[in-house]
Amino acid sequence: MTELEYLKKYLHPEDNLEEAIKRLNNGEPLQYIVGDTEFYGSIFKVNKNVLIPRPETEELVEKALNLIPKVFNEKNLNILDIGTGSGCIPITLKKHLPDAELNAVDISRAALEVAKENAKLNNTNVNFIESNIFSNVNDTFDIIISNPPYIREDEPIMDIVKNNEPHLALYAKDNGLYFYETITREACNFLNNKFIIAYEIGEEQGESVVSIAKKYFPDAKIILEQDLRHFDRFVFIIRR
Ligand code: GLN
Repeated sequence: MTELEYLKKYLHPEDNLEEAIKRLNNGEPLQYIVGDTEFYGSIFKVNKNVLIPRPETEELVEKALNLIPKVFNEKNLNILDIGTGSGCIPITLKKHLPDAELNAVDISRAALEVAKENAKLNNTNVNFIESNIFSNVNDTFDIIISNPPYIREDEPIMDIVKNNEPHLALYAKDNGLYFYETITREACNFLNNKFIIAYEIGEEQGESVVSIAKKYFPDAKIILEQDLRHFDRFVFIIRR
């Protein structure tokens, strides 16, 4: 499908096609122009305050959904998503794990507004909290999941991403590793005995994130997995 065909198919009837084409020619992503996108078979609103959900993150959710019943017998799991953005991760998890309690934090109030709209749109109950990682979190969880910002501050990325998507959701200091280091270091205070930590990572970060995981959880099982393009993309830290 060409970009024009995409607009003709998905642009909402109340929106003006000429206006949309202008935005397209200005380098704006189709998903922001249309105002929503599909993730794991559901529709999510998106705007410039949230990252556009990526197919790799659908894989993160799928892998987590496959792993969860291998680690837990119980269904009433308490789950936390860190850096939720559009809310696509916790909302999708809630749809597939109706007995779980879903919590999601983001530092961006504007992102949380989008996430809350998405929870409503998808008829799911997710508890959203404005929080800088764990700063406003007061609970323990069975699962912590996160697709944090992981792009190095000096890493070249596509213009359409760099010029449109929130840098708060893209870039991380310490070579893009800041959130893995911080979340993994503090996670012990927010996890139950048996747990899964599930991360999406940058394709060059496998070794680094695995060593962070080993440093803080030397007795856990640590799994590095690849995405469909065979790039390192996911790290799971598991204690049964
Ligand atoms: N996967 C995103 C990209 O390629 C980066 C998102 C992130 O940093 N979590 O642009």
